[in-house]
Amino acid sequence: MLAIVIARILTPEQHKWMGKLVGYDYEITYKLGPTNKAADALSRHAQSLCLNTVCSQQAASWDELRKIQVSDAYLSRVEKLADATPGQPYARQNGLVCYKNRVVIPPHSDIVKSLLQEYHDSPISGHSRALRTFKRLAQLFYWSAMHRIIREYVTACDVCQRAKSASLVPAGLLQPLPVPNQVWEDLSMDFIDGLQPSDKHTSIMVVVDHLSKSAHLIPLSHPYTSKSVAAKFVEYVVMKLHGLPKTIVSDRDPVFTSAFWRELWKLSGTKLCMSSAYHPQSDGQMEVINRCVEQFLRCFVHERPKQWSFMLPCAEYWYNTTAGNHHRWWVMSTGHHQF
Ligand SMILES: [Zn+2]
Repeated sequence: MLAIVIARILTPEQHKWMGKLVGYDYEITYKLGPTNKAADALSRHAQSLCLNTVCSQQAASWDELRKIQVSDAYLSRVEKLADATPGQPYARQNGLVCYKNRVVIPPHSDIVKSLLQEYHDSPISGHSRALRTFKRLAQLFYWSAMHRIIREYVTACDVCQRAKSASLVPAGLLQPLPVPNQVWEDLSMDFIDGLQPSDKHTSIMVVVDHLSKSAHLIPLSHPYTSKSVAAKFVEYVVMKLHGLPKTIVSDRDPVFTSAFWRELWKLSGTKLCMSSAYHPQSDGQMEVINRCVEQFLRCFVHERPKQWSFMLPCAEYWYNTTAGNHHRWWVMSTGHHQF
């Protein structure tokens, strides 16, 4: 402040502050830092004068639920039950009635419909089947006949009926892969081809970890080679996230596979030439995830097929947070569930 007063006024900011200061009768006194205990937070952060906005997301409108609780006959009955038998299974938590730590929703209210839309129709919910939709919702909510209502909703979903096919158990016995010891050490790699060009991409490289079943979806452009695939693999999987894998199972021809490994080692900066593992049959996981990804994209971009590459991050997020081993890995590595 002293600098503004005694220095030559040069900048527009100095003009502005000088104009404000001349209207006051004041005295400028220097105080040593330790004695200046009343300095406020803003004066200590001279460079961060703008206010930041803090955004948070909510899975449901809790205030709306609290309001309904007062008028809804069903919730009033449950509330009385919670008060009469404190503890399990019903209890009050933060002004809401809960059943085993899940918020009780009146089964005939509009909230059920909006929750079903949010947890089934949205891109991060991915039009999952009934059981998976139920598992997502049951992390937070409870209402009577919940499973049946969800099943009816999913069965009647127009998008699901258009985009999904019936799944059958594969014929014959598969040769299982050895059980891995670590996550992201033994992987499978496959490609989804024949897609419409979207942001110059025409294929998806799917990389799945054998242990956690979690996956990465990487957009590719045709024609791709072992070199370009290795570069994408390093960029999306190896360098940023998981390190060099021990084995990769792929149904590509051996020439492509060995060239891919050579490129991978070169890009990773290693001079060790480890041998790549050969396995005659994958464990069926690739077929499952490929079908899941294709169905997800059909659900959300069937009217705009050239937009699929923009939905790929959502598809990956949805797959990795869907109930199963990959969801457990997600919870362990991020520390939270989907919502
Ligand atoms: Zn659906």
